[in-house]
This record gives sequence, C-alpha cells and structure tokens, in this order.
Amino acid sequence: MTSEEGRRNLSSRLGIPDGNEPMTTTVHPITKASGRKVKSPAFNVEAVRADFPILKEKVHGKPLVYLDNAATSQKPRVVVDALMSFYTEFCSNVHRGVHELSERATRAYEAARVKAQRFLNAREAREIVFVRGTTEAINLVAASFGRANLRAGDEVLITAMEHHSNIVPWQLLTEEKGARLTVAPINDRGELIFDEFEKRLGTETRIVAVAHVSNALGTVNPVARIVQAAKRVGAVVVVDGAQAAPHLKIDVQTLGADFYAFSSHKVFGPTGVGVLWGRAELLEAMPPYQGGGDMIRSVRFEKTTYNDIPYKFEAGTPNIADVVGLGAALDYLRELGFERPAEHERALLAYATQQIEKIPGVRIIGTAREKAGVLSFVIEGVHPHDAGTLLDQEGIAVRTGHHCAQPVMERFGVPATTRASFAFYNTREEVDALVRGIHRVKEMFA
Ligand code: PLP
Repeated sequence: MTSEEGRRNLSSRLGIPDGNEPMTTTVHPITKASGRKVKSPAFNVEAVRADFPILKEKVHGKPLVYLDNAATSQKPRVVVDALMSFYTEFCSNVHRGVHELSERATRAYEAARVKAQRFLNAREAREIVFVRGTTEAINLVAASFGRANLRAGDEVLITAMEHHSNIVPWQLLTEEKGARLTVAPINDRGELIFDEFEKRLGTETRIVAVAHVSNALGTVNPVARIVQAAKRVGAVVVVDGAQAAPHLKIDVQTLGADFYAFSSHKVFGPTGVGVLWGRAELLEAMPPYQGGGDMIRSVRFEKTTYNDIPYKFEAGTPNIADVVGLGAALDYLRELGFERPAEHERALLAYATQQIEKIPGVRIIGTAREKAGVLSFVIEGVHPHDAGTLLDQEGIAVRTGHHCAQPVMERFGVPATTRASFAFYNTREEVDALVRGIHRVKEMFA
C-alpha cells in the first residue's frame, strides 16, 4: 500500500475528509466487527451488542449485565479503533503545525466538530466548543456569560431535579454577584410543575438552567415550552443535555435554547471530552473562560486580543484523541439511525417499569409521563448500597447513591436510590436478570 492509499484509508475510517471534500458530507462506515447491515428493517440488538466488546465480559463469573449507562455508556469498537488510530498513525498537535501529521490531526479534530454540529442540528460548526464534559460546559457559561451579564438582584432559575453540575456553578455565580438562585418545584411523579416554574419567571430572571432529562428520575422536561416561557421575560436558557443526548433526537434550533451541553462518555464516546453549543452571537460577545494558547490572536504585554469562536474558548492543547473518538461515536450513532434504537429503549424501559412495579416492597422513584433511560427505585428495608453490592455479585451493574442529585433525594424523602439505566444494547433478558436479582436481594433481607 502506498502512503497515499494508507492516508485515504485512515481518512475514510475516521471521517477525515480528503482535501477537496466538504466536511459535512463525511459519513463513517459503521463497524466491520459485526459485519452487520445497519440499514436492516428490524433493530437487531444482538448484532449491535457485537459492536461493544465489553458486553462479553464476565463479572464474578456471571455474564455482565450493564445497567449503569446514565453514569457512563460503553464504547463500540469503532471508538476504540479511532483512539488507537490517533495514537498509532497521526498523533500530533492541532492547528499550529504545517507538517502532514498535524494537518491530519487537525482535519480529524475539526471533522468531529462538524459531526457534533450535525448531531445537535446547530446552525454553524463554530457554535460547537469542545470542553471536558457537561460540567465544564455549564461552568463555562456561568463563568463567562454569567459573570459578564449578571448583576446584584438578578435571578437564575433552575428546577428541583437538577444534577449538582447544574446547581453549584449557579450558586457560585449568584453568591459572587449578590444575585439569587430560585428553584421551580417538581410534583410527586418527578415532573416540573409548570405553573410554579412560570410564576418564578420575572424581569429579574437572567438565566434559566434546566436538565433536558433528569439523571435521577428519568423525567424528560418540556424544554421547548420552558424556552418559550423564559423568552417572554428575556432570559437566556441553558440546557443540561447530559442525559438527553444518549436517548433523544436533539435539535437545538427547534428547541430555541441559547446553550446546550452534553458529555461524550454518555453518548458512547471517550471520557474527558464534551460539547458546549452556544448561539454564535452570544459566544462572540462573551469574554474568554480560560487564557492560554490557541485562544489568542495576538499577545503583547500591554494587550492581548482573542481568537474567533469557538477557539476563544478552547485554551491550551485540547483533548484531541478523545474529540476524534467522539467523532467516531457520533458517526456510529448516525449510522445506527435514531428511531429503531429509540423504540427499543422505550419498550425496554416500559417492560422494566412494569416488571419492577410488580415486586412487593419496591417503590419506583420518578414516574413522570415522559421518561427516558432511567429507572430509580428503593427496596423496603434494604439500603441501596447493599442492594447494589448484592446485584453486583450477580454480574449486574447498577448505580446506588444520590446520583449527584441530593435535592431530588430530599424531595422524595430517601437518602439514596438504586438506579438501573438503559442503552439501546440492553435486552429484555437483562431486565429479567435484574428482576431476579431484586427478588434475591429481598430474600436476603427477609
Ligand atoms: N448533568 C446530568 C443530568 C448528568 O447526569 C451528569 C452526569 O451524570 C452531568 C450533568 C455531569 O456530566 P459530566 O460528569 O460528564 O460532566
């Protein structure tokens, strides 16, 4: 193989466009590992599972039943391959090099930006800022937009179902500015009480920050409606999409929000990288978040000028390898298609809910009419940590604790829950294993 042929193979595998090809047309061929035809009419969960090497693992001698997807999801082989390719074939820094490897790395990095743009249906690629994850994205908005725009007496409105990552940055900001953090309540099902939310909107409300999907309850928030109400008082809307991005079709233009954040590791990509989408005009007006290399246009001791967006917000060497891996994950999802996996997941959640509801002494926490991906529950007389440990002995990975949502636990009067969370590669048999596991836990504590 000539080096030129090698380069073309690599390019097509990683979605690096050839010099003449527009980036937006690049589509990654889905994994060769399964040999699966991705456009087949039915959703073939076994074929999909073959794309995820870890799903064949045994835990304590039992087949792994991975139901901790809300914490982090597993990675298809194409993502692992993309990381391997980066490190073994074109490891280099981006943007500043004139040599071939640097240009390849830059093309793959910028191609991933276009893939993220497409994933969110953002208007422009320059509205996509690569960050470490949802947490950093929200901190960026709070530190940059928030500091520049919030005044004493202003308000930031959140909901009672937020993850700590969408509470604490606003607490830090409002404390610093002498502003107020207000919280819209949720009902016993774990749904936002919309009237109460609207009542808390006023001319002082500068920022509304809401989860698209709650990680502790699975509730899907009516974001488009929230945005409409927030816009009536001129507030800017920040959406924490960490739990929505793996399950819902995201269209930031239709939602109408101003900022949207998600994490790569929850959408089958590598850890350590995430995306902040922001409206170009807002990002342009915002001051830098961090100072350093790449975010500058020119540096003089007297005065530094800043780079254009999105680079203004990407100080220092970015997480190039993992951004390339995220690009491969987004290609994978695109090739998989949205509807069939989503339908499979909906059916799985409905089946799991139905089965777990039937178990005496088990209470589901979070019974919203619109839910995605998450089933939290408590077993009477059993601490969730004990339940999690016993389920682990059966090879079943669930999360126990407060799920970084302590106010939610307080709202429902529980210290913690056991949370099963689903991805499209989970099966009904795995739900059955979970149900058997819960029965066993109950027997142990009877
Ligand atoms: N928001 C929600 C709703 C989450 O579920 C999480 C992670 O679990 C986060 C924010 C924080 O994401 P990360 O830890 O990837 O920054």
